[in-house]
Amino acid sequence: MGRHDEASTESTAAAPGPKRMHAVSSETESLVDLVLDYSRRRILSSDTPLDQPRSEYELRRLAGNTIVEEGIGARRALELFENVLAPACITTDHPQYLSFIPTAPTKAATAFDLVVSASAVYGGSWLEGSGAVFAENEVISWLAGEFGLPAGAGGVFVQGGTLGNLSALVAAREHARSRLEEDGLGRPDRWKVVCSAEAHSSIASAARVMDVEVVPVAPGPTGALAGANVREALDEHGSAVFAVVATAGSTNFGIVDDLASIAALKDDFDFWLHVDGAYGLAGMLSPLARHHFAGVERADSVIVDPHKWLFAPFDACALIYADPETGRRAHTQHAEYLDTLTETTEWSPSDYAAHLTRRARGLPLWFSLATYGEAAYRDAISASIQLARDIADEIDSRDGFSLVRQPQLSVVVFERDGWSRADYAAWSARLLDEQRAFVTPSSHEGRPNTRFAIVNPMTTFDQLVGILDTM
Ligand SMILES: *Cc1c(COP(=O)(O)O)cnc(C)c1O
Repeated sequence: MGRHDEASTESTAAAPGPKRMHAVSSETESLVDLVLDYSRRRILSSDTPLDQPRSEYELRRLAGNTIVEEGIGARRALELFENVLAPACITTDHPQYLSFIPTAPTKAATAFDLVVSASAVYGGSWLEGSGAVFAENEVISWLAGEFGLPAGAGGVFVQGGTLGNLSALVAAREHARSRLEEDGLGRPDRWKVVCSAEAHSSIASAARVMDVEVVPVAPGPTGALAGANVREALDEHGSAVFAVVATAGSTNFGIVDDLASIAALKDDFDFWLHVDGAYGLAGMLSPLARHHFAGVERADSVIVDPHKWLFAPFDACALIYADPETGRRAHTQHAEYLDTLTETTEWSPSDYAAHLTRRARGLPLWFSLATYGEAAYRDAISASIQLARDIADEIDSRDGFSLVRQPQLSVVVFERDGWSRADYAAWSARLLDEQRAFVTPSSHEGRPNTRFAIVNPMTTFDQLVGILDTM
């Protein structure tokens, strides 16, 4: 008889009473074996299908009621996950997942995520997690160096770009508020943040949370915001502007704003420059794209999401301040029971964003970077950029296809001439139904289109050509 064959063996060997779920017993041992075995198979599988969503009705019918007084047991719960729930989750690290911004964690990063969970590391304070915080900070410093930020730059891994942008903008407003106060000036009636009209929706979301106004500025014809456009907004709105947000790789097109000309405005105006590079800033690691990001070195804060193009699992955003003290002043939480933590000079990640308890979510990236080295990252990122260029050339040369814009990074947006919104929708649904690819419809200035967002080094030119052939 195999180790896990009998549910009854599991329960008879369980620890008694309230210790049952926590004690090391033959029940917990076989449960951990089951879960690790599943994880190993999933991480090393090269043929996990794309899968697709199911309706709540179907899932209820297939999964039934899983939360009951006595439990259904680990074996049944895991079987349900493997056979019913997981297949109803799209495989976001599949090479033919080309929608939104995909994810493509390295094997090292994914495997190490298990270690982070297994170790119950608290990533909020130096006191509790110094070893983890040290390693996370090494990654943050390395990124800051790549971006050309000043030597003292530092920050924290937060849940995602949305929270990273919000935390940076809160620090920016706090900075502006204290500047005005020092100068004996009052607060503006309404704080304002200037950004491109094509900026990510999370900027508008942050503005709503902060109750500040967004001043959208039209980008130039290439989709990039330039200093000249921003200058007009700064002239018009004056000291009510607490931050300018530049996008380093728009989500829809992968277009990088003209960071150098926007940063140059700092010579004439006093504003906080935040660079939202959630997807695209990783492109700076590649010699093929590095030049697009000139000017980022003058940013007061930047974000980049390791769960997008830095090959880490969900969920992680690196938020980096040029002067981390600005982040700490805005975000440190004070309470009697926290005084031991806040009355020291030690570096506590909790102090640098709108959060307290945190997972050491930078560790999978640290482990992977330490394992493979920087050069492997440059190669993998360069591969996406090169593939985007190659497939853009292919699209350009095909009859009946039009590129909407030349790709700058690894997003290729194109139209199938004459197709309506409904044509794209039907085609996209068919691709997923046939488990060929996950490519969703998009649009630009009211015209429907579709896009390939490429971050997975396992995606090939031939796969993409195969998708074009279905149109
Ligand atoms: C994805 C993205 C965000 C939001 O990041 P999340 O991690 O999804 O919260 C913000 N800005 C840009 C440019 C993005 O591409």
